[in-house]
Amino acid sequence: MASLIERYAAVVCDLDGVVYRGPDAVDHAVGALSGLTVPIVYATNNASRPPEEVAAHLTDLGLHASGRDVATSSQAGAEELAAHLPHGARVLAVGGVGVREALQAKGFRVLQPAQVRDDPGQRVAGVLQGYGPDVTAADLAEAAYAVAAGAMWVATNTDGTLPTHRGTAPGNGTLVAAVRRAVNRDPVVVGKPEAPLYHLCAGRLGIEVRRVLAVGDRLDTDIAGAVSAGMDSVLVLTGVDSVTTLATAPRQLRPTYLVEDLRSLQDEYDDAETDYSWWVCGNDRRRVVDGRWEVASQGAAMEAARAGIAALHQGLDDGDLDTETVRRLVRDLDDWQ
Ligand SMILES: [Mg+2]
Repeated sequence: MASLIERYAAVVCDLDGVVYRGPDAVDHAVGALSGLTVPIVYATNNASRPPEEVAAHLTDLGLHASGRDVATSSQAGAEELAAHLPHGARVLAVGGVGVREALQAKGFRVLQPAQVRDDPGQRVAGVLQGYGPDVTAADLAEAAYAVAAGAMWVATNTDGTLPTHRGTAPGNGTLVAAVRRAVNRDPVVVGKPEAPLYHLCAGRLGIEVRRVLAVGDRLDTDIAGAVSAGMDSVLVLTGVDSVTTLATAPRQLRPTYLVEDLRSLQDEYDDAETDYSWWVCGNDRRRVVDGRWEVASQGAAMEAARAGIAALHQGLDDGDLDTETVRRLVRDLDDWQ
């Protein structure tokens, strides 16, 4: 049987919670990624850092990565604007240096909010809004004026919050919501959970979407984005989401595969399968009867998790289980946590 990664020609890998957590590497991540022979693109919703800076962080952790191996939501945003606006068009950059550089790389004439403020006669054809720690209310006002005047509005991502070393800060989605309130219009969003960032990665690799495996730790961004991009995906349990949160996830947030960490990419993967009565994964064989587990044979932790999750999802989809029952049943599965 082939390993999980042998089913694919490339990997698109999330960063936070998969490769690193803050400055430090996630356990086993560097070794596991270094051992892969397929190309990897690291895809991040973080719009503020340019790809070279992200690549330098990865290199510090012991990975071989250059700027070209990193795809940011700023780049996906610049790509989206380039698909609709003429080369050299004037675009307002709201956000960090990563936003500005991505637009410059696409040949746009980039204007900063202060430049437009000082010379309001300069009409812009587009606005790219991404996160930057120094974005001000005055910057958001310039974005709102430009959008109201007809500029195409692209948001890199709509993550509502941003974890920092001091706590939780308002993320780009919160700043986008401020502009949306003023203009009463929605932006085009390119980062996860939307598809364009993943499509940018596949395009850069020159590999069909269906032959690329997306790796992530968050259901509502990484996995949802893969589903909307038509990519298979794997959830790793080293970050935000868990078997518990996966149990109640709706269809469009469900990964193709579930693994503990990145080492499992090199392992054979036992899919959960059903014979229309039991769910089976490896040595684990179980089903839900009258709101309780019936376990014909108990497998290893991840086998039980995969068979159990498959059974719970089927119960939800068929209307046989409500979310409260699913939450209780997944607690009973908790050996693997
Ligand atoms: Mg993540």
